Amino acid sequence: MALCTECGTEVEPGSKRGRRCADCHAEYMREWHYRRNAEVRDLLIAEKARRRCEWEGGCQFNVTRPIHLGFDHLPGHEKRFELGKAQMLGKTVEEVQTELAKCQVLCHNHHAEMTALRGKLSVALRAEIEMQVRNEETEHA
Ligand SMILES: [Zn+2]
Ligand SMILES: [Zn+2]
Repeated sequence: MALCTECGTEVEPGSKRGRRCADCHAEYMREWHYRRNAEVRDLLIAEKARRRCEWEGGCQFNVTRPIHLGFDHLPGHEKRFELGKAQMLGKTVEEVQTELAKCQVLCHNHHAEMTALRGKLSVALRAEIEMQVRNEETEHA
């Protein structure tokens, strides 16, 4: 007969949980998730503190507080998930590191500017494509 190593309750032999009863195993998993989550949080904060705002040409806002910095996925990289939601999504440190490599850190001001800029660029691109299509249509007319 096997006993739970945590509380001494009887455990069915050959249990996949090892030597823990269901309750102690659940508690163990909760703690494990919590620890892993804390690691991800620390990693994200450390990365923001290290990189600061990476706006091209330098950031004039001198933002240092991690809460005022965000991660921006660089164009041409597949976005697997939002880094700001990494903890909520239960992402591992490895998954977060992979995602971090595809991102730049921007302060909120520059993040807003970048979003506006990309929006404008895509509008310009759409206009250009429409123009091309129209030109082709007149050529073939
Ligand atoms: Zn137990
Ligand atoms: Zn900035």
